[in-house]
Amino acid sequence: NWKKVMNEMEQPNGTTEEVSSRIVVCVRKRPLSKKERSKNDADVISTVNNTLQVFEPKLKVDLTKYTEVHEFSFDKIFNEESNNMTVYKSCAQPLVFAFFKGCKVTCFAYGQTGAGKTYTMMGTNEEPGLYALALEDIFRLKAKPEYSHLGVYISFFEIYGAKLFDLLNGRKRIECREDAKQRVRIIGLEQRFCTSVQDVFEILEQGAQARSTGSTGANADSSRSHAILQIVLKYNEDGMKNEEDPDYTFGKLSFIDLAGSERAADTTHSDRQTRMEGAEINKSLLALKECIRALDQNQHHTPFRGSKLTLVLKDSFVSVDSRTVMIANVSPSASNCEHTLNTLRYADRVKELRKDSSGSRRQSCVFSASSMDSNQGHEEEAYEE
Ligand code: ADP
Ligand code: MG
Repeated sequence: NWKKVMNEMEQPNGTTEEVSSRIVVCVRKRPLSKKERSKNDADVISTVNNTLQVFEPKLKVDLTKYTEVHEFSFDKIFNEESNNMTVYKSCAQPLVFAFFKGCKVTCFAYGQTGAGKTYTMMGTNEEPGLYALALEDIFRLKAKPEYSHLGVYISFFEIYGAKLFDLLNGRKRIECREDAKQRVRIIGLEQRFCTSVQDVFEILEQGAQARSTGSTGANADSSRSHAILQIVLKYNEDGMKNEEDPDYTFGKLSFIDLAGSERAADTTHSDRQTRMEGAEINKSLLALKECIRALDQNQHHTPFRGSKLTLVLKDSFVSVDSRTVMIANVSPSASNCEHTLNTLRYADRVKELRKDSSGSRRQSCVFSASSMDSNQGHEEEAYEE
C-alpha cells in the first residue's frame, strides 16, 4: 500500500529512494572531532553498505586482549562522507511527500549528547539540516495550484521533565490533555501561519533563544529536553472546512530532536534533580521504543500514555497513515564506545520485531557470542550500563 502511495506521488527532484516500511531505522556516524583527533582518540566504527561494525576496545581489562566486534545492520547507514542533503533525500524527503498526501509523519534524532542530532536536524549556515531542507520542499510543493487550499502552520515546543514549554511563546508552560473523543490537545500551543522558509527560520531563531533564556526559571540544558518542531497542513480560511472538527489537520510532520540518551542513565546520580530528569528521559525513551514497535506491528494497543513525549504524538502513532523515521546518531570515537553501543542496541530493538515482506520476523542484528551474554536482562532501561 505504501509503495503505491509513494509511486503515485510526485517527486520534484526524482531522486528519492523508495522506502516501503512504515518505520525506517537509520544510523548516522559523525566524523571524529578536532578535539578527538588531537587526543588520538580512535575511530572504532566501520561501515559497509547497511552493515556497521563497532570494535570495542578491551584495554581496561587487558592491553593484549583483542577487541570485541559488534555487528549491526539497519535500513540505512550514513558515515562521515554523507552530508545533510544525502540524509534528507533518503530519510526525510519521502516523509514530506507522504505529508502532502495527508499523512502524519515523524522523524526522530536519537543519540548521546554530541553525537550529531542537532547538526542533522537544525544544521548550520553552511550545512542546512533536515528542517530547512524539508521546508524548502514543503513551500515548493505548497505553491502548486492543487494545494492552494492548504496553509502551512508551525509550532515549536519542548518537553522537559514531563512538562511542555512553548518555544514560540517565551517558553510558556502548556498542558496536554485528551478530550472526550480521546483526541490529544495541547492547550495554548501557538501555531504560526508561515509562507516561506525564512518565515519559519525567524520563528525558530526566537524559539532557540527562548530555549536557552526563557523566563520560566530554571531552564533545561538542551541535552535534557526533547525539542519538537511540528509542521501542519490545514485548510485555509477560504478553503474547505471540516464541520466535525474545525481544527482539522490535513497532514502533520513532526521533527524531534530527542534529549541525550546518556541522560537516561542519570537515575543514580547524587543530585536529586538530575536523577528525576534522568528517570523521566528513560521513561520517555522506553515508551517511544514501545510505541514505534507497536506501530509497525499494527497493534491495536499503542502504549502512548507511557510518557508525555508519546502522548503528544498520539495522533501520529494511531494513524493508519503514519510513517516514522528514526535516525540514531553515533560518535565514532573509542572513548564514546559504550554510549555508541547503547544507541545501536536501542535502535536495533526499535526495528527488531519488524516483519519482513513475507511476514516472518527478521533477524537483523548479529552479536558476537560474548556480547550476547552481556546483553541479557536489560529490557527495562533505555540506556544500559
Ligand atoms: P547533539 O545535538 O547530538 O548533542 P550536535 O549536533 O550538537 O550533537 O553535534 C556535536 C558537534 O559535532 C557539533 O559541533 C557539530 O557541528 C558536530 N557534528 C555533528 N555531526 C556532524 C557531521 N555529520 N559532520 C560534521 N560535524 C558534525
Ligand atoms: Mg543537540
